[in-house]
Amino acid sequence: MSDTVALSLLARQPLCRPEVSGLPRYNSGLSEEEVQRRYGLKNIVKLGSNENPYGPSDLVKSGWDVLMGRLGRYPDAGAATLRSDIAKTCGIAHDRVLVGNGSEQIIRMIAEAYLSPRDRVVTVRPAFGLHEICPRMMGAVVDAVPITAEATFDYAAMLAAVHQPTKLLMFANPSNPVGCMMTGEALRALIEACPPDTLIVVDEAYREYAEQDPDYPDARAILEKQARPWIILRTFSKAYGLAALRIGYALTSSADVTATLDSVRDPFNTNMPAQVAACAALADTAYMQDCVSKTVAERERVVQLLVTQGLFVAPTWTNFVFVRTPMLADKLSTALLERGIIIKPWKEAGFENWIRISIGLPEENNIMLRALADLVL
Ligand SMILES: *Cc1c(COP(=O)(O)O)cnc(C)c1O
Repeated sequence: MSDTVALSLLARQPLCRPEVSGLPRYNSGLSEEEVQRRYGLKNIVKLGSNENPYGPSDLVKSGWDVLMGRLGRYPDAGAATLRSDIAKTCGIAHDRVLVGNGSEQIIRMIAEAYLSPRDRVVTVRPAFGLHEICPRMMGAVVDAVPITAEATFDYAAMLAAVHQPTKLLMFANPSNPVGCMMTGEALRALIEACPPDTLIVVDEAYREYAEQDPDYPDARAILEKQARPWIILRTFSKAYGLAALRIGYALTSSADVTATLDSVRDPFNTNMPAQVAACAALADTAYMQDCVSKTVAERERVVQLLVTQGLFVAPTWTNFVFVRTPMLADKLSTALLERGIIIKPWKEAGFENWIRISIGLPEENNIMLRALADLVL
């Protein structure tokens, strides 16, 4: 065999692990700049990534100049101040708190630390992309339980799913992209149905919005009563308005679980501006609550108007709506992009005519509602 033939054969053989070559891509959506460039537009309405349209508290902004003077130094690798602030706020020991470069990074760390090839993971469908991608990256087998026709968690099917050996149960409550909320009763039953050696991960990225409902369960109180490992994930990217800085955290069942995650953590995984900004954001709960109240009120208005347009909107406890449309989501999304409106079309089999729309400022929502009425009716 000539060298060239050998080389071209080699080029066709992926060098990466088989788990990696078959991995679905995470759909992170388009940035404002990209849409401006592609469509030659100036004004963009970004409703694709569930951000807080009001941005962070003034407390975050007022500390910014001080940070600029410290950019030459490495951040605190252990994020001690932020972890201690989170521990105090949540009433938990600081060695049961771990911070990540977004909670996304913690999802990856969980997969890296706990999953081996062929381990079984139970989640829901549709799910937050990384709940499936990170386990599959490690060679785990993902069993995603579809939501019901009413766009709620399918409790019976989830209970049945965890009756088989399950290494990891991971889902978001409330759900992204659906928005539905699991009740405390269902959460308790599901956790108790899991084998004793199942690691339970409840992703609470949208808890601040769901907490407006007194029925939103305190997952931690339920989990603390269980003698099993668990992790609760939270983020500063949504209600706290710090998505750009990439910072999130985990509360764990024990210092052991934290130490396990810590052993796969990049040493300087969170940057200094993010650590400082998260402390400031955490100190201004009143501001966060105000943003949440405004967004929830806007959400109710948007839901009403979408329903009036004859669309099916999944019941939601978040800062977004998951909507079934008569059009293919991809086509609708492109038509909206041409008008400078970014939403998230769902591309998963069975959900090709669902779109997820984040709740923005009232005027942004109005632009989106008008465009939708134009395109869908
Ligand atoms: C947005 C989101 C995250 C990621 O948050 P970051 O902290 O920005 O990485 C995690 N889980 C769910 C369900 C989300 O919707």
